[in-house]
Amino acid sequence: MNAPDLYISKSAIEAYLRCHALYHFRYPLGARPLGRKPAPMVMGNVQHAGFNEGFLGRHGDLECMLHHMESHPDWDHLTKANQLISEAVLTAAHSVFQPFRDAVEVEYAEVKLARDDEHVFLNQVGDDETCLVRYSVTCDAAVSEGDDRYLFELKTKQKAPWGNDWDRAEVSLQKQMFVTEMEEYHDFSSSGVWWQFFVQPMQKKYAPPTNGKGEVEWLRRTVDMMATDSDDWFPKRFFKRHATLEKNAKRDLTRLVDMLIYEMQRGPEYAQNRNSCFDFKRKCDFYNVCHKDPRLINDKKLFQLRKDR
Ligand code: SF4
Repeated sequence: MNAPDLYISKSAIEAYLRCHALYHFRYPLGARPLGRKPAPMVMGNVQHAGFNEGFLGRHGDLECMLHHMESHPDWDHLTKANQLISEAVLTAAHSVFQPFRDAVEVEYAEVKLARDDEHVFLNQVGDDETCLVRYSVTCDAAVSEGDDRYLFELKTKQKAPWGNDWDRAEVSLQKQMFVTEMEEYHDFSSSGVWWQFFVQPMQKKYAPPTNGKGEVEWLRRTVDMMATDSDDWFPKRFFKRHATLEKNAKRDLTRLVDMLIYEMQRGPEYAQNRNSCFDFKRKCDFYNVCHKDPRLINDKKLFQLRKDR
């Protein structure tokens, strides 16, 4: 049996659970849709670069944070309005970083764990020892506070987090994978995962003037508003700790990965789950490939395929 091209990450497992065909397009085939990404996603990415500098960087002053954000490769893809909003978010958020920096010690920033393994992630499945598993999981940082060590992760959102978000963070796949990996292979015993949510203003409601005039004044007002009413943007449940990984969560993860490996070893037949074509209120990137013409996957104007294919 040929070794399957198996890529395991949080996003890969989520894609597989959503639709096997989606996993196949994104990972073994490595198809990336060309064209613009949705603005909230791009804003989240560029702001993340600034937040990380604020929380974890060596300097953490506003100028450095703005510099990191504006150096992000996607910065130029934002509209002027979204750039201004992102600057306003970072400026208003700046004051909340210092308490964090005073309280913790950063052990690792931007932790990326990746490895190519000749055997299966946690369990050996079947007899095929040539199975190659590429495994990757990332986290913003590992920090310690007193004797406690945490994995640290930032999330940007468009609405204030509520109970459900904290619950989802508690059972998130990323947490399960990261804690398992760190405990099993890196001798890092964590007390849990520390999440921080940031809320960014909705563009429609807070967009600056479109006539190009008064943008500076708009920015000043937005920053004032966010600083005055900061609980809306930087919620009071500022630092949230989670207990360490429960035993059954680790078992579930093991099962999930085993299932993925088993499916991959079975061969190149990938079931479409058409119930997921509009998940998260967004049309799947591969909709036309599945619903119109499978050959579109080779259209160089629509998709970039991984080079080694
Ligand atoms: S369009 Fe639907 S069936 Fe096709 S990959 Fe996406 S979710 Fe799966």
